[in-house]
Amino acid sequence: MTAQDILKQYFGYDSFRPGQDELVRAILSGRDTLGIMPTGAGKSICYQVPAMLFPGLTLVISPLISLMKDQVGALVEAGVPAACINSAMSAEEFRDALYFAGRGQYKLLYVAPERLTAPSFLEFAKRVPISMVTVDEAHCISQWGQDFRPSYLKILDFLAELPERPLVSAFTATATAEVRDDIVQALGLHEPFIKTTGFDRPNLYFAVEQPTSKGMKLLQLLNERKDKSGIVYCSTRYHAGLDPDERRENQDDFLYDRKTIMVATNAFGMGIDKSNVSFVIHYNMPKNMESYYQEAGRAGRDGQPADCILLYSGQDVRMAEFLIERSHEAEDETIDEATRQQLIARDRERLRQMTFYCTTTECLRHYILRYFGENSPMSCGHCSSCDTNFEEMDATMDARKILSCVYRLDERGRAFGKTVVSAILTGSKNEKITQFHLDTLSTYNIMPDSTAVYVRRLIDMLLERGYLIADPDRMNVLVLARTGNALMRGRGEFRVKLPKEKKPAAAKQYAALAEDVDEKLFDALRDVRTRLAARAGVPPYVIFSNATLADMAAKQPSSEFDLLSVRGVGDAKARRYGKEFLAAIQKYRDENLGK
Ligand code: ADP
Ligand code: ZN
Repeated sequence: MTAQDILKQYFGYDSFRPGQDELVRAILSGRDTLGIMPTGAGKSICYQVPAMLFPGLTLVISPLISLMKDQVGALVEAGVPAACINSAMSAEEFRDALYFAGRGQYKLLYVAPERLTAPSFLEFAKRVPISMVTVDEAHCISQWGQDFRPSYLKILDFLAELPERPLVSAFTATATAEVRDDIVQALGLHEPFIKTTGFDRPNLYFAVEQPTSKGMKLLQLLNERKDKSGIVYCSTRYHAGLDPDERRENQDDFLYDRKTIMVATNAFGMGIDKSNVSFVIHYNMPKNMESYYQEAGRAGRDGQPADCILLYSGQDVRMAEFLIERSHEAEDETIDEATRQQLIARDRERLRQMTFYCTTTECLRHYILRYFGENSPMSCGHCSSCDTNFEEMDATMDARKILSCVYRLDERGRAFGKTVVSAILTGSKNEKITQFHLDTLSTYNIMPDSTAVYVRRLIDMLLERGYLIADPDRMNVLVLARTGNALMRGRGEFRVKLPKEKKPAAAKQYAALAEDVDEKLFDALRDVRTRLAARAGVPPYVIFSNATLADMAAKQPSSEFDLLSVRGVGDAKARRYGKEFLAAIQKYRDENLGK
């Protein structure tokens, strides 16, 4: 049997997802492997399929009993011989599980990390042939992560006790480089194959806008999406916090589609899985890409096209910087000064990456995926960068004018922020200008044909590239950096990319989406699933996922054999449940014939 056969026969899928196949192949070739995939991307298949092909047992180390039970339940349903060992079991159950495992009755045995070094378990593990040890939620071994579990550190001791070191594979959804390196280190992976995959969400359209008025822009965006459901995230609360009842009520109204728009601070949405959110607008830039992608990712869970729009302004950066400082001021006593500084530096770096996302002209999806460590094409055709024609131009002359203006101000012992500087350059006659006699500067009105917006944009770019510095202690007045001085004096050039025009929305690979599924039939199939799940005492998704039901509703199979062509239906499940689903489809057809 090949991996492909196993995938089809037991799990009912025709093909591996991109990335899954590489991970499976690496494991089957006997190489230590680390898979980094977001929740829902399909990690389990990556070790379950090889486990079926290996001669010996695969131990799966998993931190949560509930998770373990679900997984084993799903495997047994699919006809895969699997069992678990956890602290909720009686001594007798424990003995039985080990007895059957010892006789080669299972291909997969799930075990909690605390159990690994228990003498009875160790004795068992030394005796039976173990082909692979798989570490699920592997980030729990990293002391950098939020979910550090000391018991995970026992894994290395356990491996050392075994007469022969089995292949080790590890999986996690945490993508940061620190955690990844920690996992490789702490598990002692030998030259591992590392693959990040599944972070792409093709149905999401990403956009960043830098409007002159965020309020107006927001109203416009909401107007264009009147009948749609969406979330608007803000980093601060406009009015006092709501009392819990009111909060609960608002949340329910949103969840049950009684209200379509939810305005929320960043804490909202944890554990909320509303699938038909068709847009997420960020009124402020979040503090890092991790937060952004998690919040934006609440759009389009149903696979339908959805928009993720971020409204950016330079103000957001300063607000975020302020919040970083403050969050670490309140740090508890256990953290020493050096660690505190380290945390601040890490947060600042993440903020920098977030800011680059807002100002980049490259493909936004590519930027996101690269941030999370996944390879992707340079251009996706489905984000605001790809939709905009950027024009590269030489802005050296304009940059010099701006820099000289800052320089001349400094000669007079003055400094201003970018609004005043751009007003001087474009020859404005506003109050500040006359009050401080700025119209007598030699740089007054030397960019008469440019708009203030354009000049401010260039100033932003000069700031980003470090030619100018915004002094945070003096209300962000502009200061000339040493490199800026050199550029002003004729050394180097300053090229920029500016948006020229919007491209017409092209038909793209990314817009290809699931066809409409007959909802009545889907509901009927879901009822069958609910019934079967209740009878078997398992959660509904263990029987079939929503995607499988949708595919079934689209294909409308009429025999058990046809049923096997539905994504997610394997041999065992077709035999066990086929009849009832086929009957429901038949009934639906009879009722709707000729309509
Ligand atoms: P994770 O552990 O990464 O959160 P799961 O392993 O639970 O994800 O898989 C998420 C969903 O994707 C499950 O419903 C699973 O059956 C489905 N899935 C996994 N691999 C494939 C595949 N190759 N084709 C279709 N569906 C898949
Ligand atoms: Zn793109």
